[in-house]
Amino acid sequence: MNISRKRFLRTLGFGTILGSLPQSGLLHSEAMQQARAAARGMKIKEIEIFHYDIPLIEPFTIAIGTMYAANNVLVRIRTDSGIVGLGEACPFTPITGDTQDTSIAAAKDLRTIAVGKDPLAVESLIKQFGALAHTNPSTVAAFDMALYDILGKVASLPLYRLFGGDRSSFETDITVSLDTTEKMIRSAKEFASRGYKTIKIKVGTDPDVDVERLQSMREAVGPNLNFRIDANQGWTVAQAIYALKRMEPVRIQFVEQPVHRSDLAGMKRVRDESPIPVMADESLFLPADAIQLIRADACDYFNIKLTKAAGIFNSIKIAHIADAANIRCMLGCMIDSRLALTAAAHVVAAHGNITFADLDGNIEHTVDPVIGGMIVKEGIITLPEGPGLGVDVDPAFLKRMKKV
Ligand SMILES: [Mg+2]
Repeated sequence: MNISRKRFLRTLGFGTILGSLPQSGLLHSEAMQQARAAARGMKIKEIEIFHYDIPLIEPFTIAIGTMYAANNVLVRIRTDSGIVGLGEACPFTPITGDTQDTSIAAAKDLRTIAVGKDPLAVESLIKQFGALAHTNPSTVAAFDMALYDILGKVASLPLYRLFGGDRSSFETDITVSLDTTEKMIRSAKEFASRGYKTIKIKVGTDPDVDVERLQSMREAVGPNLNFRIDANQGWTVAQAIYALKRMEPVRIQFVEQPVHRSDLAGMKRVRDESPIPVMADESLFLPADAIQLIRADACDYFNIKLTKAAGIFNSIKIAHIADAANIRCMLGCMIDSRLALTAAAHVVAAHGNITFADLDGNIEHTVDPVIGGMIVKEGIITLPEGPGLGVDVDPAFLKRMKKV
């Protein structure tokens, strides 16, 4: 029997809907027509790459290295219809292995791939970037966030709304980097006085020193400040189990990456014996790593970073994988400016399974060249309501940066 499409839809009950849509209604309004015309056939016209250098007030030290400046890379993608998307790469050499130089080299290759392509076809472009997601994840992340910025601007929605999220503000912690116990206590007290409810403390040195330091810090700041700790792979399995058992009375939410990133069996042993939950950070870059961690039963939580996951696209994938495995996530950062931090904050706001945030990458930056973007007050991040990422970079600052 032949049946027309219209009749078929009517049999499904769509007749009333079809019949009630006026030709001059919302779907045919001028605004909608313009939006469709803008999106149809859009091409990437130009991509600018900048050195994005921000000096630090104090060097940032973790168990496996020190960063003396934020030598980041800024990417500005312009479409043929004049829409501009911004992205930031934050190569954190001790963890990601890339540098500003390798990021710029990768960015040039990505530019060659992307120019002339449809900026809204984010998935397709990420696929074309291929294995650069493994070698230069932070550079791919910069392109990825610039593409999402364009997508949000075309849709006239802030990114978190485009992803279906509904919470425009949430808590972040703030990090106490490795230093003398006295200096670390001073930082913790200062952060508490600024209204932060949670601090993340770097550990992963001599286990006895770490334990005694945490005991002194708890004594100095009292019981109400939440503690998280991050060993950045600094301990052996035996050291981790020893230290974490001794740290139990200090009351700690979780420990990030107690042992080497490749030792998933060791992570599981720590998890089995530790009274403190274990979060994977350096063991987790791309979505396939999330699967490996779940298979190995190696952790309680994931720390997702745009810089490791090569951007928003993969970060969301990891959040979904984690959700299905009943693993809650944190969104973390490197020493990003408020540009990449805002991109990460949109991802937090979009996903109920991301229950922790550690978006404080710019605390040691001497300047904040970002206009708009997320704001942090007393440990609470609030997202901008402008379309896309809702950020811009001060043109005067950018003028001083070297363009590639
Ligand atoms: Mg970490």
